[in-house]
Amino acid sequence: MRFGPSSAARDHDEKVTRKVAEIIYDDGADLGLVQRRHVAVLGYGSQGHAHALSLRDSGVDVRVGLPEGSGSIEKAEGEGLRVLTPREACEESDLIMVLVPDHLQRALYADAIGPALVEGDALFFAHGLSIRYGLIQPPSGVDVCMVAPKGPGHLVRRQFSEGRGVPVLVAVHADASGNAWPLALSYAKAIGGTRAGALKTTFTEETETDLFGEQAVLCGGVSELIKAGFDTLVEAGYQPEVAYFECMHELKLIVDLIYRGGLSYMRYSISDTAEQGDYTAGPRIITSKTREEMKKILAEIRDGSFAKEWIEENDKGCPNFLATRQREQTHPIEQLGPKLRAMMPFLQPVVAPGLATKAATSEK
Ligand code: NAD
Ligand code: MG
Repeated sequence: MRFGPSSAARDHDEKVTRKVAEIIYDDGADLGLVQRRHVAVLGYGSQGHAHALSLRDSGVDVRVGLPEGSGSIEKAEGEGLRVLTPREACEESDLIMVLVPDHLQRALYADAIGPALVEGDALFFAHGLSIRYGLIQPPSGVDVCMVAPKGPGHLVRRQFSEGRGVPVLVAVHADASGNAWPLALSYAKAIGGTRAGALKTTFTEETETDLFGEQAVLCGGVSELIKAGFDTLVEAGYQPEVAYFECMHELKLIVDLIYRGGLSYMRYSISDTAEQGDYTAGPRIITSKTREEMKKILAEIRDGSFAKEWIEENDKGCPNFLATRQREQTHPIEQLGPKLRAMMPFLQPVVAPGLATKAATSEK
């Protein structure tokens, strides 16, 4: 994809126009670099536990930074990790990996990270949002890098433990030391990333494509598609239970096929009738208007207006966000779902926080 002129916010990570991916494997990374650092992993959630444990197993000096009273302290200590407050962990370290939720990073930086940064330190992220939109502005003299696994933390950790790895995106926003790339690759190697392959990117490309993917396709696109399909069948008088199986439950079967072998393997596996419907109906659902709207969504991501609105919403305590979440949970497919999933213990069904009471009191 070719992008237009750069915005003022865009720094030297201008290589988003590159077409050929550069992928680095174990033999292109020196584990010794990160082994000579003192690393703080801030946060012990999905990514935090995977990074901290795998760094430790790779012979890296690592401590975990968690606020007092955090439920994760016991878990981290239970794994034999040293746990300090975020501020203490940052003071002790010369490489800080920020693995707390993105919307909390700005405050954590102000409280704990920023005050502890000195020249020669390195600040690492697993997602580019805070840097791309200027929520965190590290001082010059500090390397700013990204190592972003393309999978959830439990998979990252399990693959590492089994001698394999999950692919990672690596990027350098600021190369103060002149050695930031080798350091980022060294870190990637320590969590198993270069076993699978480390793909070079930029903070800009990673952030913008990540936001676009979740909005247009993975979360926004899919959720609306499911609801629209379900509503259409129910409004036409079909049983909601049957509509649920067709428009939500079976999505898993299709996605599993796509995950393993792409669209062609999915189409190979389904019936010819289903494949014919795929070709004839698909372009009527995702129309040129939809594609135009995707371009607008991308433009709002790139010009920073999505991020600006989301930060303002957070600063207000998320009133619209929380109201929308509540409203979405009242959709008939969400009210019906728990009952049907309870018929299928093999799914290991779970009930989303906030949904339990509403679903229990609903008729369906
Ligand atoms: P998470 O919600 O699973 O875990 C967050 C952790 O941060 C928890 O342990 C929480 O206790 C801790 N925490 C909260 N506030 C804190 C504070 N003030 N100080 C220290 N610790 C604090 O988060 P995650 O999904 O692991 O995401 C971490 C980063 O990794 C994000 O930048 C995210 O975009 C990125 N990432 C996540 C995934 C994924 O699949 N989960 C994949 C790639 C990248
Ligand atoms: Mg993502």
